[in-house]
Amino acid sequence: MAFNLTRREFLKDLGLLGAGITLAPAAVSGNTIFDWDNEKTPQLHRPGWVSTSSVPTMEIDWDKMQRWREWRTTRGSFPEYVGKERDDRLTKLQTENLDRWVKQNKPGYTLKDRALQNAAGQGSGAQSFLPPKDATTPDKLGVAPWKGSPEDAALMLTAAMRHMGAGTVGFVELDSRTTEKLIYAEDPDKKVMSIEDVANPSEDDKKRVIPKKARWVIVWTIPMSQETMKTAPTALCSMTTGLTYTTNRSFQLRLQYFLAGLGYMGLGENSTNALGISPALGTMAGLGEMSRLNRLITPEWGPIARVFKMVTDLPLAPTKPINAGIMQFCKVCKKCAEFCPSKALSFDTEPSWEPRGPWSNPGHKAFFEDSTKCRAYWRQVGTNCGLCFTACPFGTKNQAFFHAFRNALTSATPVFDSALRAVDDWINPGPANPELGDPFKNPEDWWKRTDLPIYGINTSSGLSTI
Ligand code: SF4
Ligand code: SF4
Repeated sequence: MAFNLTRREFLKDLGLLGAGITLAPAAVSGNTIFDWDNEKTPQLHRPGWVSTSSVPTMEIDWDKMQRWREWRTTRGSFPEYVGKERDDRLTKLQTENLDRWVKQNKPGYTLKDRALQNAAGQGSGAQSFLPPKDATTPDKLGVAPWKGSPEDAALMLTAAMRHMGAGTVGFVELDSRTTEKLIYAEDPDKKVMSIEDVANPSEDDKKRVIPKKARWVIVWTIPMSQETMKTAPTALCSMTTGLTYTTNRSFQLRLQYFLAGLGYMGLGENSTNALGISPALGTMAGLGEMSRLNRLITPEWGPIARVFKMVTDLPLAPTKPINAGIMQFCKVCKKCAEFCPSKALSFDTEPSWEPRGPWSNPGHKAFFEDSTKCRAYWRQVGTNCGLCFTACPFGTKNQAFFHAFRNALTSATPVFDSALRAVDDWINPGPANPELGDPFKNPEDWWKRTDLPIYGINTSSGLSTI
């Protein structure tokens, strides 16, 4: 079966159209399958059943949304949310557990796992909000800055970024009434992110200045190894995200050099998770849909990818949000919530406008999580967990026929979502008792795998085969 069919063609292929299964708009909650425009994003090369739309599947009330202070997340304010005493106890427990498990040779926490985790965090490029000063700019070469249409710029940038390691690439235009609110008001280090009518970006002890003319956000994914993620929650799994962040620091620096070489500014994340809300910008750029994880799920790699961004004054043709049926599938599935050992994720059937605590920003309708439960569990296991990513049916290998089939059918109609979840349980059952937080796959088995692709990423499962 070809995977570049439209929804209608796909269903016809399955004999479902005209077979009594109603796909009329009334049968589909949220967006109907017929009201999406099918204007494709040239640089994403997706099959017809990943539809683009003017609005994302996550509802947003832009009037209610305000620019967020990153440090209000549990990343920055965990001790405030749980109290100093509990924070201290969890820190002590984390140290004791990691110490005991390395000595016990606990799978996933052995000396070799810890050594690889440490190694993966090394060798990254300098990370900075401001662009590098020593780039070979057009000015230094005595030529004019690069000129072209926003569409040409988008294609050129995507080609360069794919070559340098990006998975998928999208673009968001900033509008002060809407998307500009996705740029943080304050960065993780509490510096104010000020958008001002000035010619050049700057930074001092208190603030970082984004010139108003820098109106475009480049958003990209870097896929991660599914196989090491499957060993969550262990040091080996934690290495997966560590390696991706390290990779991205070098990537960001190269992208800043590339933009400077063209005569434009690239304003980067000054530290991990800085600058703006990655899942939201990824959603607006059409790299994926928001999900029960309250994170981005991509059609290519499910949640097993990280999302990064950069602000630029190079005019870029914006990409559009998508609807691949992911948010709709989440309403039925709930597998991540079942496998979350700390029960941090929502079991509600519908997303809500009400955050579950001060760690989330209001103004969007989401499956809000109890972030303090999640963070506390991270301390307990001494890693960043990731079991929910591992459990997600969209995070399992896309090249397998069932997963391509499931993704296509999910995007077409929610009628089969329960059945598809049941089939996924059969294929990807997970540990018998989710409460114990056991990994889906034995970390010791991964150490015997010498047949995996480079970086553990199947790069063919991106742009052409889903
Ligand atoms: S990372 Fe672990 S603890 Fe946190 S929400 Fe996911 S499964 Fe739960
Ligand atoms: S596991 Fe299921 S409910 Fe959770 S994010 Fe994935 S598809 Fe959605």
